[in-house]
Amino acid sequence: MTAPLDLSPDATEEEAAAAAERWLHENLPPAWLKAVLDGDREAVAAQRADADGLRAWYAQLGDSGLATPSWPREHGGLGLSADAAGAISDVLLRYSADFDSPAFIGRGLAGPTILLHGTDEQKRRHLPGIRRGEVQWCQLFSEPGAGSDLAALAARAERQEDGTWRVNGQKVWNSYAHFADWAILMARTDPSRPKHRGISYFLVDMRTPGVSPRPLRQMNGDAEFNEVFLDDVVLPEDALLGDLNDGWAVGISTLMQERNGLSGRPGVGPGRGEELARLAARTGTWADPLLRDRLLSYLVEERVLQMTTVRAFVETGTGPVGAEGSIRKLISSWLQEQAGVLAAEADPVGVLGWPAGSGLPSSAYDFLSMKQTAIAGGTSEIQRNIIAERVLGLPKDPDPEKDVPFNQRSRG
Ligand SMILES: Cc1cc2nc3c(=O)[nH]c(=O)nc-3n(C[C@H](O)[C@H](O)[C@H](O)COP(=O)(O)OP(=O)(O)OC[C@H]3O[C@@H](n4cnc5c(N)ncnc54)[C@H](O)[C@@H]3O)c2cc1C
Repeated sequence: MTAPLDLSPDATEEEAAAAAERWLHENLPPAWLKAVLDGDREAVAAQRADADGLRAWYAQLGDSGLATPSWPREHGGLGLSADAAGAISDVLLRYSADFDSPAFIGRGLAGPTILLHGTDEQKRRHLPGIRRGEVQWCQLFSEPGAGSDLAALAARAERQEDGTWRVNGQKVWNSYAHFADWAILMARTDPSRPKHRGISYFLVDMRTPGVSPRPLRQMNGDAEFNEVFLDDVVLPEDALLGDLNDGWAVGISTLMQERNGLSGRPGVGPGRGEELARLAARTGTWADPLLRDRLLSYLVEERVLQMTTVRAFVETGTGPVGAEGSIRKLISSWLQEQAGVLAAEADPVGVLGWPAGSGLPSSAYDFLSMKQTAIAGGTSEIQRNIIAERVLGLPKDPDPEKDVPFNQRSRG
């Protein structure tokens, strides 16, 4: 087993990044390291395509503490500040050495929420599998009638006489639920309370009888999403995370992590702008002065976002997980949309057609995926509402039934 990295919890950003880079040079499989240093993206992709090798790499990364650098050392992290941890994430990205995106739900959402609200037993049981990338998680929050207004959720969890919970309801847009091992779930435990106050938060084994994910196909070709039906699902007493009927507060802590995590690369350095410029150089569209001008504007805006993020980390001391995170998410969603459009313009032939049977070219994929971040984890309109209310101090969106018991409301 790999030993945790020997790094002081007071390490600065530079020290943390240098230690991570040294560790990668010593531990990344030699062919992978060579592919990264040569900038050979296909060779890197080939390394990452070896499922067994990738699994072993994730376990090694998890044991080193580098996969979860801000977690406490007692739970396998390095106990680092948010900015030093961010510097490590940046290095892992540069070496294409990080977990792949499905792991975000465990490492970025379930893990931090369990750290904040879990019992010792829940932490002991769940955190190691998340840290080592061994257990896939999904998020069962959204419902057909509850997305932006998540507190309107209707899935019911009823306590049985023996202390177990019986859950019934339907969730939707649940990424990776079709292969997830565990889920974080919000369900209504007391409909006689106002909508925010009768919700509880649960940890659900996806193999429990009655849990049925059904994949949904998206326009970018992925089938990442699912609807998940919960029919008489019986959960053990200790599936509850946090206090009974306090699930809204627990869920908000997950959503704040999500907004922060969806906002792009934490450090200041190469990002999508450079990739787009390289794409334009490869296809010859770099010769178009108008496109070049827009690509350069994009590069500047991306840098400004990165620097604003760093400033938010420094000013709040905790990282932009409060309402500041909404500003960051709003801007990075906008940047993702711009990047989708620019990818299509930089590779106009690539987005028009590709050989049958081969996957989408990355430019077409980026174009078709450009709206994702602007919807996931709270839409851009909702981020604007949060900024208006909590940053600018404007009046709240009116909800005349906010204090009415959920089961007596006139609307959902
Ligand atoms: C890539 C991706 C991954 C996702 N993964 C998951 C997941 O794993 N688990 C999960 O539970 N959910 C997931 N979601 C769902 C996501 O959280 C919801 O789609 C999102 O919260 C919006 O909810 P909705 O789709 O019901 O839209 P609605 O809430 O119906 O919104 C429709 C439109 O109305 C606008 N609107 C709504 N209310 C207001 C308001 N008060 N003020 C101004 N405008 C408003 C919205 O901005 C939007 O434009 C994912 C979504 C995406 C795109």
